[in-house]
Amino acid sequence: MSRNSRTVLIAGGGITGLTAGLALARAGFRVDLFEQAEGFETIGAGLQLSPNALAVLDGLGLLHRIKTVAVGPTAIRVMSATSGREIVRIPLGHHAVERYGRPYLVIHRADLQQVLASACADDPDVTLHMAASVDDVAAHANGVTALVNQGSQMTEFSGIGLVAADGVWSRLRNVHFDARPSVYSGLAAWRALIAAERLPGSQDMESVQLWLAPNAHAVSYPVRHGQHLNVVVVLAALQAPQGWTDRGEVGELRQALAGWSPAFAGLLDHKARWTRWPLHAAPRLRRWSEGPTALAGDAAHAMLPFAAQGAAMGIEDAAVIARCLKAAHENGGDASAAFAAYEGERRRRAARAGRLALANRYLYHLPRPLDLARNLAMQAIGGRRLLARQDWLYGWKPAP
Ligand SMILES: Cc1cc2nc3c(=O)[nH]c(=O)nc-3n(C[C@H](O)[C@H](O)[C@H](O)COP(=O)(O)OP(=O)(O)OC[C@H]3O[C@@H](n4cnc5c(N)ncnc54)[C@H](O)[C@@H]3O)c2cc1C
Repeated sequence: MSRNSRTVLIAGGGITGLTAGLALARAGFRVDLFEQAEGFETIGAGLQLSPNALAVLDGLGLLHRIKTVAVGPTAIRVMSATSGREIVRIPLGHHAVERYGRPYLVIHRADLQQVLASACADDPDVTLHMAASVDDVAAHANGVTALVNQGSQMTEFSGIGLVAADGVWSRLRNVHFDARPSVYSGLAAWRALIAAERLPGSQDMESVQLWLAPNAHAVSYPVRHGQHLNVVVVLAALQAPQGWTDRGEVGELRQALAGWSPAFAGLLDHKARWTRWPLHAAPRLRRWSEGPTALAGDAAHAMLPFAAQGAAMGIEDAAVIARCLKAAHENGGDASAAFAAYEGERRRRAARAGRLALANRYLYHLPRPLDLARNLAMQAIGGRRLLARQDWLYGWKPAP
């Protein structure tokens, strides 16, 4: 492939954009990746990485590096947030590896981004442009030209196609696909990292704990080799907090969690910086691709985090985009054909993951007394069968 005929542009250096950059480079393309931020964030929170996402990252040769910074939980323990008792235990650890061929890991988002960014930086076929915002893109006979704002100057970059992985508030989606803004769910996620050394020895640092209460839920799990406990509480919030860094007052959270067992509420007594994240979903789009431009990750299908699959879907998108572009290139097709094939392959699965997240939203937040019936039903089904219900999701693997 000549240099010009193999350059792909990517807008956005989040998990989706970086994975797409690497996957495309491994598929024989050259990549110019633009990230509007000056550097990759070191703050942030945890991510659960399910086996379907790890199948892609393993294929890119990153599993070993990810394991050095991630934690492999032995189970998801579904807990009653009011009594503090375990409702059911869904086995992970070696069960996940035996069932899906890859582990189920939990990781700090910044650690994953760092692994991906350094793999991109090490790849001679990927150029990372930081502090570079893609302001617009135009399609033409040879592909696309993007207008990139690099502070003091506007520069044009050309490629055979552009992947817009610019997140839930995607500018490129709004300009070229659908002007509707993302939809606020009426929920906010309160997130904090608590240093393990501040926690009592009895704190569970082996599993993901999912705490269910009427009208709210929380998730806690270790990250960074167990040096921190990642804690997320999801509550109704009439007004959307601003951006990803809105400071949350722990007093307000304590009040909202009155009636929760000290087994969870005790975590609020430890020093931590709480931030509040608005939970948005992308509007349902008529199209994800338009000629040589395609949306990917949250820009295409941002979903509520109740299935812990937003980043996983973006990672899967990246693998499919790279395979479709490679196949089109080998068969004399162009990026438009490749992106249409990508969209055709991905829409149904991402929508199904989004529907699971919506269903979990109602299941996790059931009010009294329906929550008691839910707890009994989960116990009756049992942890192994609850895991088996996710086979369609966690068992996905990228085509060779
Ligand atoms: C509380 C919570 C918990 C979650 N837990 C999980 C989980 O456990 N597992 C999971 O898989 N997912 C989870 N998610 C979802 C996951 O965080 C997102 O789906 C994922 O991070 C989206 O990645 P992305 O790269 O598509 O978008 P983003 O992470 O939003 O990245 C977009 C990037 O594009 C950049 N950008 C924007 N506009 C431009 C532009 N014009 N030019 C250049 N750059 C631009 C931005 O600066 C940003 O870096 C969770 C989400 C929340 C809110």
